[in-house]
Amino acid sequence: MTTIEGNLQQVHERLARACRAAARDVSEVTLLAVSKTFDADAVCLALAAGQHAFGENYVQEGTEKIAALRLLRPHAALQWHCIGPLQSNKTRPVAEHFDWVQSVDRLKIAQRLSEQRPANLPPLQVCLQVNVDGGANKSGVAPDALAELAMAVARLPRLQLRGLMCIPEPAPDFGTQRDLFLRAKGLFDQLNAQGLGLDTLSLGMSDDLEAAVAAGSTMVRVGRGVFGSRPARS
Ligand SMILES: *Cc1c(COP(=O)(O)O)cnc(C)c1O
Repeated sequence: MTTIEGNLQQVHERLARACRAAARDVSEVTLLAVSKTFDADAVCLALAAGQHAFGENYVQEGTEKIAALRLLRPHAALQWHCIGPLQSNKTRPVAEHFDWVQSVDRLKIAQRLSEQRPANLPPLQVCLQVNVDGGANKSGVAPDALAELAMAVARLPRLQLRGLMCIPEPAPDFGTQRDLFLRAKGLFDQLNAQGLGLDTLSLGMSDDLEAAVAAGSTMVRVGRGVFGSRPARS
């Protein structure tokens, strides 16, 4: 067994335990493997172990890896999620190469992605990134501006609004972390009460996926838990 295969197995075991504790079915939570800083060979190993959805933070690194995987595994059904902060001058390669974008937090970015999404591809699947704890974490729309943004994004023709993504500050204990995630869950439920039909609540990473599952996450984004520790970025 490769290290990545063993890591994936462990993450799935953690998810199964967390779902059991929360009285949820494991099929309700998808694993996104965050491959940032890891190379195409690492993605191939994860793919061989049954993992098909991958997340990338940096546009150039992501598009290069997507191209590499098309050559290495032309028949594999891979799904690529852009989960990093987006600048408006970098939306085109994202619209052209990714399947999902989870980090939309401004209408201008969403409009550009919709305009730039090629007509021969399915609509780009979108989550809005919400900043539930204000302060230090600068990316994400403020909760009180979320509904207006969501309504506007839902009307864009080449995007399909799927849900919310949130990265709260790390908290010292399970209960505090879960309560931060529950704020995102509350906003998600409010939007659905307004008829938006969202199905994706992207919460939780390597260190806090249990608290995220307890709060209702439907997608955890796990990097180190799958691929091992990352080198520090210089
Ligand atoms: C890096 C990253 C992750 C994965 O983090 P780990 O702690 O390695 O699991 C998840 N989501 C986003 C947005 C990230 O940037």
